[in-house]
Amino acid sequence: MHAYAVALYALSLGCAVFASFQTMAIMRLVQAPRLKLFWCSVTGVSIAVEALHAVFTVKIAFTPSTPDLAFSATILLGAGGIFASLTRCMRASILDVQQVATLKRLAYHDPLTEIGNRRAFDASMAEGETSERPATVILFDVDHFKSFNDGYGHDVGDLVLKHLARLISATAPGYSVYRIGGEEFAIVAPIRLEEAAMLANLCRASIELVPLMHMEEPIHITASAGVAQFRPGETVSSVMRRADQALYAAKRAGRNRVIEAA
Ligand code: GH3
Ligand code: MG
Ligand code: MG
Repeated sequence: MHAYAVALYALSLGCAVFASFQTMAIMRLVQAPRLKLFWCSVTGVSIAVEALHAVFTVKIAFTPSTPDLAFSATILLGAGGIFASLTRCMRASILDVQQVATLKRLAYHDPLTEIGNRRAFDASMAEGETSERPATVILFDVDHFKSFNDGYGHDVGDLVLKHLARLISATAPGYSVYRIGGEEFAIVAPIRLEEAAMLANLCRASIELVPLMHMEEPIHITASAGVAQFRPGETVSSVMRRADQALYAAKRAGRNRVIEAA
C-alpha cells in the first residue's frame, strides 16, 4: 500500500517536471521581459511546491500509524497531480504548435501582398533543383513601377503590388506565386518551358487588361517576364541567371512581353 502511494507520487512528480520543462521551452519564445519573468516565477514556484509535496508524501507513506484516510488522500493527490501535469503538457503543446505555425507563416509570407516571400520561393526552387519532374521558374518585373510611386505616392504603389499579387494568383490557380523583391513576382511550376511561357503570357495579358481602380480612375500596369526551365543537374543560381537574362531581354525589347531563356 505504501509502495503504491510512493510510486504514484513519483509518477506525478515526473509528469510535473516534464510539464515544467515544456512550459520553460515555450517561455523562451516570449519576448516581453516582464511576462517572461512572471511565467518563469510561476513555473519555479510550482516546481518547489511539487518538491515539498513529494517530501510530505514519502513521510506519510512510511509512517506506520498513517490512517487509511491519509493513504487515500495521498493517492488522490498523486492522481490529481498527474492529471494537472497532463493538462499543462497539453496546453503547452497546443501553444507550441500555434507558435510554430505563426512563426512559419511570418517567415514564409510577405505581409503586404499576403503571398509567399523570397524565403518560400528559395525553398520551392531548391525542391525544383532536385525534382524528377520538370520545373520551370517565371520571373515577373513590373514595368516602370517607380513612376506609380512618383506619380501617385508610395501607398498607391503598395496597392499596385497587392493588386498584382491577387491578379497573378487568380490567373495561375494551383500554382504558388511569390513576391521575391520590391516589384518582382515569381512562379515556380512543375511544367515545361513552353507551357510556362503560355502561363506567363496569360498573366502578362491579365495585368495589361485589368487596371487597378483608384479614385474611380483606372491605373494601367504592364509587366515583363523571363522564363527558364531547370536543365538536368542545373543549380538554382544557374537557372535564376538564365531567367534574369531573359527578363532583361524582355525589358530591352520594349517591356510588356515574355521571353523564354536560351
Ligand atoms: P523597370 O521597368 O526597368 O523595371 O523600371 P522600374 O521603375 O519598375 O524599376 P526600378 O528598379 O527603377 O524601381 C523599382 C521601384 O520599386 C523602386 C522602389 O522604390 C520601389 N519599391 C520597392 N519596394 C516597394 C514597396 O514595397 N512598395 C512600394 N510602393 N514601392 C516599392
Ligand atoms: Mg525590379
Ligand atoms: Mg520594374
